[in-house]
Amino acid sequence: MGDFYERIVDVEVTGEEAGPLAERMVDWMVGEGLITREMSGEGVYSLDVDEGYVPGPNWKQAVADASDPSWLPGPVAILVGRDYHVGGQGSDEAEYAVCPRCRARTVIINYPEEFEPDEEVWQPFRDGIATWKKTGEGNAPCAACGACVPVTEWQWDGNFAVGALAFDFWGWPPFSVGFYERFSRQLGHRTAEHMGKF
Ligand SMILES: [Zn+2]
Repeated sequence: MGDFYERIVDVEVTGEEAGPLAERMVDWMVGEGLITREMSGEGVYSLDVDEGYVPGPNWKQAVADASDPSWLPGPVAILVGRDYHVGGQGSDEAEYAVCPRCRARTVIINYPEEFEPDEEVWQPFRDGIATWKKTGEGNAPCAACGACVPVTEWQWDGNFAVGALAFDFWGWPPFSVGFYERFSRQLGHRTAEHMGKF
């Protein structure tokens, strides 16, 4: 039903651990009956992944409200590899970043006056993320306290996340809060959640 997704991003796993963790998560989701091992590309619009796992018999256990019998979810695509992820309207820049050391907020897109990033402010973040994608380590300096903070530790606005493992649930009804918690516990890591449209 529709070409939108709910995404869960693991914001802590390393690029090296992401593949094995993805396999363990598939085993867990299959065991729970949330997905099957059957793959399908129908309704999957993830950037670098063409196919996802078809929902299993217990998919309703993940969602807040399964009362609409015509709403059947689509496949779950798994994105493995260091990358940044955007939700909502899919801007390629974060709106802001909060320094984990001094809590200062660096505004990158000055909504609602501006709809484009301040390139001068964004550039160090963009460079840090690009370096992290290539090497697994990348930093951006905090303008307030001067700390050199890894891009995986900056706290981004709710529509931007940096991580090496993401799960795109295509066309699923909204998840229950409990499901996010179970999923995060299963990953053993902090997560970010996005909703977006293709
Ligand atoms: Zn700082």
